[in-house]
Amino acid sequence: MTTKETLENDVVTRFAPSPTGLLHKGHAYSALKAYEYAKNRGGRFILRIEDIDTTRCKPDFIKAIYKDLSWLGIHWENPVRIQSQHLEDYQDILEQLRKRGLIYPCFCTRRDIQNEIMRSGHAPHGPEGPVYPGICKNIPETESAERVKNGEPHAWRLDLDKALTMIEKPIIWEDELHGLQVAKPELLGDIVLSRKDTPTSYHLSVTVDDALQGITHVVRGEDLFHATHIHVVLQKLLNLPQPIYRHHPLLLDSDGKRFAKRDKAETLTSIRENGVSAKEIIEEIMA
Ligand code: GLU
Repeated sequence: MTTKETLENDVVTRFAPSPTGLLHKGHAYSALKAYEYAKNRGGRFILRIEDIDTTRCKPDFIKAIYKDLSWLGIHWENPVRIQSQHLEDYQDILEQLRKRGLIYPCFCTRRDIQNEIMRSGHAPHGPEGPVYPGICKNIPETESAERVKNGEPHAWRLDLDKALTMIEKPIIWEDELHGLQVAKPELLGDIVLSRKDTPTSYHLSVTVDDALQGITHVVRGEDLFHATHIHVVLQKLLNLPQPIYRHHPLLLDSDGKRFAKRDKAETLTSIRENGVSAKEIIEEIMA
């Protein structure tokens, strides 16, 4: 067996939907891309439920995800990792980062952030919106600790400047479709690692879980391309392996627009209930 074959057999991909609505054709496309990538290489495919947003995620949407993916002929390994059942894993990591002085509490409301951006007249705008202007970064530690102790609502943000002093740069990551990339985490800045309403965040839990589940190839939509600039920083900080990425173009509808969860008629559930076969859908979207 050649080295290439050995490596290919070790491929592990995943599909990691958030159950905030019913899946649409865009999700089917992404799930099939990740599934086929693994299967074509004799690898493994994992399904992960990213339900940390307890206000928007619903158990019924999780059930629908299982049904839709089975209908598409996708097989995944059990048990499925459901992020809301592992919040302590993310808290442990957060605590490590806190002890290393790499995160700070942020008491800002959205309004505080907007006001500061307007006041300073200077707002670097990243792919996820304006970069946090650092309001809480310089609060003396004794004061912020006191405010946390008093129960003032707060998120925890990554101190990116400090993080970058602790890792070797440049950080290079590979995207199989876009080529080698030099990480530009400053595009996202001091991202939230633990939200006010839930003790983790997308960036933290996805990075931790990809490592924990041994994901070798992250196959996902181009809408998450920029998030990778910060995920690779977290991997370096936490000494986690860096997967290979493959950000595929998004499937567009007949008007050239991205599918959205709010378009009820386009959900896989309604398509199925209208008697369309999975084969027809797969042929249409994977053509
Ligand atoms: N849970 C994310 C979403 O549904 C995707 C996470 C990922 O693939 O990295 O948008």
